[in-house]
Amino acid sequence: MPDLFIDGAWRGAVDERTREIRCPADGSLVGVVDEAGGKDTVEAIAAARRAFDEGPWPRTPAHERGDLLLRVADLLGRDKEALARAESLDTGKRLVESEYDIDDIANCFRYFGRLVASETGRVVDTGRADVDSRVVYEPVGVCGLITPWNYPLLQTAWKVAPALAAGNTVVLKPSELTPHTAIHLLRLLAEAGLPPGVGNLVLGTGPEAGAPLADHPDVDLVSFTGGLETGRRLMAAAAGTVKKVALELGGKNPNLVFADADFETAVDMALTAVFLHSGQVCSAGARLLVEDALHDRFVDEVVRRARDIRLGGPFDERAQTGPLISAAHRAKVEAYVARGLAEGAVLRCGGTRPDRPDLVGGFYYLPTVLDECAAGMSVVREESFGPVLTVERFTSEEEAVRLADDTVYGLAGAVWTSDEARAARVAARLRLGTVWINDYHPYVPQAEWGGFKQSGFGRELGPAGLAEYRETKHIWRNTRPSPQGWFD
Ligand code: NAD
Repeated sequence: MPDLFIDGAWRGAVDERTREIRCPADGSLVGVVDEAGGKDTVEAIAAARRAFDEGPWPRTPAHERGDLLLRVADLLGRDKEALARAESLDTGKRLVESEYDIDDIANCFRYFGRLVASETGRVVDTGRADVDSRVVYEPVGVCGLITPWNYPLLQTAWKVAPALAAGNTVVLKPSELTPHTAIHLLRLLAEAGLPPGVGNLVLGTGPEAGAPLADHPDVDLVSFTGGLETGRRLMAAAAGTVKKVALELGGKNPNLVFADADFETAVDMALTAVFLHSGQVCSAGARLLVEDALHDRFVDEVVRRARDIRLGGPFDERAQTGPLISAAHRAKVEAYVARGLAEGAVLRCGGTRPDRPDLVGGFYYLPTVLDECAAGMSVVREESFGPVLTVERFTSEEEAVRLADDTVYGLAGAVWTSDEARAARVAARLRLGTVWINDYHPYVPQAEWGGFKQSGFGRELGPAGLAEYRETKHIWRNTRPSPQGWFD
């Protein structure tokens, strides 16, 4: 069955190109999918435009759109095992993590399905008896949605669910490396009754299949999750048509540990913060900032436990984390570590590929700790997006906040302390979209997600996540029109 979904029909690419998808854990062939080029995307945009301008979806009552999202949530639950397996084969991540993701994805559809049904606009009090004034919500139009490979279906759900809830039509372009769960999602949307042209799928590379979503005049909004450099390019490309742009970019997230923190929990979560999914998490706690008095004991324990982390493929039940996504990505991580060492960091563990024979076919890299790092090092400021923890020391609250802020990013981070007043002070000062206190990584769909600084703008999830995909229109009705006489 062909893999591009355009105007309600499955079809191949205009120039009949395909791509092999291989599992990063062992290089095995997962599947061969159709690979769109720019012409396919332009057709998908035209279908989405027609469906928006002439089709029923934007005019369907919000609660009915919400009902469709709730049906999709149920279908995701029904197909959970197949989806989780597909996600794990494409990304190499452990099956248990993919299963967890599919639950989150169903919850995301449920959240936006309910939210859209409950939000009805508002009446404005103009103070005038002869005027009815209302603010109503309308969809933005055709939305180009571009997603990365690290949480393929989750990042897709965070865009597709609010965009459809708000009444838009969409063209989805997932990462070329991880297409399978997006294909499955489009099948579920069709099964749930989404009209033709409302949801379209193009698979392929960014510069070819993705680029028209940023500069085509018939696209009203482009929402992108991915790397900083790509985000910059997309924003520039979108300027020509003054598209609405939402960017969820990278992070270089600080994890601040004060000497009075709960030692066991802070160590445990420092490991989870950075080594979950081998650090390929936008909010990964890749920078450990430890109070000087605690540094040696804390880092020794982190290193001891990092050495014991077991790597393995998606279906190895003893594995604690998996491979990197590709050879190119592993080379990038290796280059960051080499640069960090050249800049003066001290290698405490990892820093190489594992030598276990059963892992040689995959893109594995050992959990790595670089100690004695300093502000200004590239390995501290730039996103390696791998299992690499840099460690810096601080001696005061002031210094901790200053070091934490020493990067262009501002996505997420944590503070660990048993002093509640300090936790509140530090959380208030950190220039981050999400701050965890004595925790790391949890999120809920009810609260917004997004970055400060160059981690992007626009918000996903929460009420603002729905607002991202809506225009608000003010309707002023004069109930007693009569001449004003200004120009008599
Ligand atoms: P990437 O920027 O290489 O690619 C992301 C997507 O953009 C892919 O679908 C790609 O094909 C597409 N793309 C690339 N060039 C394009 C172009 N010129 N025009 C249109 N589309 C183009 O990022 P990646 O390597 O897939 O993902 C990793 C990055 O994503 C990391 O930086 C990570 O921090 C970030 N991320 C951020 C969040 C967040 O919530 N802020 C969440 C997940 C991932």
